Amino acid sequence: MRGSFDDVPWNTLFPLLPPADVDSLNQAARTVDAVCVGRDTGDWEWFPEHATFPGSRVGTPVILGLDVIEHADGVDQLEFLLQVVWTEAGRLAVDSAVNVACWCDTDHATHDVDAIRLEIGEYTSLPEAFRASVERLTGWLADPHNADHWRARVGLPPR
Ligand SMILES: [Zn+2]
Repeated sequence: MRGSFDDVPWNTLFPLLPPADVDSLNQAARTVDAVCVGRDTGDWEWFPEHATFPGSRVGTPVILGLDVIEHADGVDQLEFLLQVVWTEAGRLAVDSAVNVACWCDTDHATHDVDAIRLEIGEYTSLPEAFRASVERLTGWLADPHNADHWRARVGLPPR
């Protein structure tokens, strides 16, 4: 299911979260939305069927995600990601990443040029991890939306 941040069913996706934590997620999400204003690419996407841990299996079940994708000329791609996921061990984590199209001699399809995973546990709550990831994402979004800029930062060949 996709939509704007106002449509995100926090209580369905995270039924055990106290209301204060839901408020905190809401506030953090608003700061991303503010950065994405004027773009038609900043849709939230969520998967109610993953609200409870679906078990270890291939892939990473995403509960809630935001994908900000910049296309250039239909062939180049720059993607900013924020995702609340289940780890294989059945823990929640918040992943964020900057991903670019590959222009190496050998085609790798895409590269993560920056990525962090914050696992939820005894010392890190979901609102804390979400807020930290949102801050990272909004920082990335403030940098040039130019895939070559990001490739240069990690020594990848330009388009
Ligand atoms: Zn490559």
